[in-house]
Amino acid sequence: MSDTKRPTPQPGILDIAPYLPGKSGKPGSQAIKLSANESPLGASPKAVAAFAAAADRLEIYPEGSSRLLREALGDVHGVDPASIVCGNGSDDLLHLLAQTYLGEGDEAVMNRFGFSVYPIITKAAGANIVLVDETDYTADVDKLLAAVTAQTKVVWLANPNNPTGTYLSDAEVRRLHAGLRSDVLLVIDNAYAEYVTAPDFSVGLDLVREADNVVMVRTFSKMGLAAARIGWMVGPDHIVDAINRIRGPFNVNLPAQMAGAAAARDLDFNEKLKAHNAKWRNWLTAELQGNRMRVVPSQANFVMVLFDSAETASRAFETLAEAGYIVREIGASYGIPQALRISIGSEAAMLGVAEVLKSMDETP
Ligand SMILES: *Cc1c(COP(=O)(O)O)cnc(C)c1O
Repeated sequence: MSDTKRPTPQPGILDIAPYLPGKSGKPGSQAIKLSANESPLGASPKAVAAFAAAADRLEIYPEGSSRLLREALGDVHGVDPASIVCGNGSDDLLHLLAQTYLGEGDEAVMNRFGFSVYPIITKAAGANIVLVDETDYTADVDKLLAAVTAQTKVVWLANPNNPTGTYLSDAEVRRLHAGLRSDVLLVIDNAYAEYVTAPDFSVGLDLVREADNVVMVRTFSKMGLAAARIGWMVGPDHIVDAINRIRGPFNVNLPAQMAGAAAARDLDFNEKLKAHNAKWRNWLTAELQGNRMRVVPSQANFVMVLFDSAETASRAFETLAEAGYIVREIGASYGIPQALRISIGSEAAMLGVAEVLKSMDETP
């Protein structure tokens, strides 16, 4: 055969830079992973038990709409389960939203230092991503609105944002929504909502109830179940209907559905995790601040630490790695080479990280 043609990806696919996950330690090493915003207190014991119990039914297809999980979420959050769609992680749902509402020639608007999955899914749908500058690492509603054009179909907003940890107040999110045309979809990605302590924050749910062009996307990954891959979204009927037409018919596996339902109802565990995080987020922020580091105030389960240069940041990364702490470099993936993102870990890990970073400061 002399035919050298081969299958060709759709336009744009090969322009996508692959997602860079947080590093793990070398296999077999004792390194502590603070690079992926995972729970330092494990998973809810009730979720673990529910996951294990599902092992008896592995030959049976799961219930395709994740009904029990949606009912648990509905109870806990006061939402009609019919307004909820579950996904194989929230990444699954974000992909489905992009595929459903974006196409060739369309634009999606996001913050320059917003979540790095948004450009991938936007380009995968054939659309163009429009990056909008923040003001001091915080989303700027006026700049976001100024970037909206006739081609804009989606605005991606992580609130709080990853990797900066900053957030928009309820009033600012409402101002953003009020400035959008009614045919522009506002996706509010509240991946870190469980960790927020700011009194002027509100989850996207309130706006979803009032508007026809808003969805809220959530995840269990940052609350102890990253391995199980469970995400959920709440939206108006017309959006839920569209997403349900194209999602995988069994997109959430049975152990995940069972674990998620148990985790959603385990308010004690979730409260414990939130309290641990708030305590050590405050402590680490105060401990590092000054010391030639600037910690951006965070509402999530990580902090972004700014150093005086990219060189200092990478020296800090190496010094922490030698001491057994793997944190997240955010140069290549997020364009902030002078910063490191550090997940809030155990008490011992936080004390260790602070000691390493502060002693580095003494030996320039
Ligand atoms: C971690 C994260 C997600 C992805 O969560 P999964 O449910 O694990 O896919 C989504 N959005 C943001 C902003 C995140 O940081």
